[in-house]
Amino acid sequence: MNHLRRLGNQISVLMPSDSDGLIGRECPEPKCESYFKIQLGTGLKGENLPCHCPYCGHTEAPNHFFTKAQIEYAKSVVLNQLTGALLKDMKALEFNHQPRGGFGIGISMKVTGQPTPIRHYREKKLETEVVCDQCTLRYMIYGVFGFCPDCGIHNSRQILAKNLELVEKLLGVAETQEPALASALIENAIEDCVSAFDGFGRETCRVFASKAANPESAAEIRFQNIVAARDRVRMQFGVDFAAVADPSDWAHVLRAFQKRHLLAHKMGVVDEDYLSATGDSPALLGRKISLSAPEVRELVSRLQVLGAELFRSLEAKP
Ligand SMILES: [Zn+2]
Ligand SMILES: [Zn+2]
Repeated sequence: MNHLRRLGNQISVLMPSDSDGLIGRECPEPKCESYFKIQLGTGLKGENLPCHCPYCGHTEAPNHFFTKAQIEYAKSVVLNQLTGALLKDMKALEFNHQPRGGFGIGISMKVTGQPTPIRHYREKKLETEVVCDQCTLRYMIYGVFGFCPDCGIHNSRQILAKNLELVEKLLGVAETQEPALASALIENAIEDCVSAFDGFGRETCRVFASKAANPESAAEIRFQNIVAARDRVRMQFGVDFAAVADPSDWAHVLRAFQKRHLLAHKMGVVDEDYLSATGDSPALLGRKISLSAPEVRELVSRLQVLGAELFRSLEAKP
């Protein structure tokens, strides 16, 4: 039984990474069992650091995060090696005694068979790749938002920063174009800017919803109307994320959000609601709003401050 003995009492199985260098993981929490991928060797260094599910935040030792396909693969590799070694050892025992004399009886043993096959698997395709700006872990998830599997930090601020950076690039492009194209690009930029903040704000409220007066309503707060969002956050969490902005900064943000609303729903033509929300001159009624790249750029920098404060104050809330 040499081959079998040589296997020892432990067989280690190496999990292959996919063509992008990532390895699949699955949340062990029965209500979640969601799939994500990480790149080994990036992120935190150390032995037995816990792993965090990017979707539900469940935390456990990393050896609980193998996918079902990986476990099947590992089992099949072990069985393959065991049955392969056993077959080789049995093969060594083969014999064939030819019959001798008139009534001789021949006796032989022949070993046939194949080792149990290996059940290979393929990692799944995912949607968003993130390199954590806290711990440098490279990971991929479905959707956009999630917790870092290594350091556990939520990526909503990082995603907001990335989207606002794209808005600034779009504004840079707009400034090199002829007026009609430039104004179309600036309109796109403000739309993207508001969407990015809306996505960020909703996700942040959802993540911290358990701290709210009514978690279900808190998880539903929308940020396209920033005045209503400010009120609802104050009502649900008892914090005012706009307190960091001085009144003229806040007025700038409010006016920019109102302009975005007109562009999205009224072809950019000023109506009574816009005038009463912004206090702009009634002479503008029925006119098309003006929007410049510096105005949107200023909105970007105000939203960075407001976003950081929203996250900070909700996280700090006991
Ligand atoms: Zn999970
Ligand atoms: Zn991290």
